[in-house]
Amino acid sequence: MHEFSIVQGLINQIEEYIEKENCRKVLKIELEIGEMSGVVQDALEFAYDVCSEGTLVEGAKLSIKMVPVKVRCRDCLNEFIVKDYCFSCPDCSSTGLDVLSGHELSIKEMEVEE
Ligand SMILES: [Zn+2]
Repeated sequence: MHEFSIVQGLINQIEEYIEKENCRKVLKIELEIGEMSGVVQDALEFAYDVCSEGTLVEGAKLSIKMVPVKVRCRDCLNEFIVKDYCFSCPDCSSTGLDVLSGHELSIKEMEVEE
């Protein structure tokens, strides 16, 4: 389960921010997770509950936004969303694809109490 190390890293990052900005606490954290990042949403939520305990982040509401895998075909420049890991172009069947999104793993928004 690499979700634990991911969450730990995010919490450290948020705690640093809180200390630097002198905020009282975090109310809400919104994460953006690409479907290709290999992160399982349930596992991440579980890891968050465990890791946030006793930290400055404890009690903040976590919301996770999954970002679909978007690719562009190198042959016909068609852009499409990949479903079920089917990596071939629906228009020309090419498998030469550039990934445009889907690797995200970041904090998109954060609500803090000043
Ligand atoms: Zn194509």
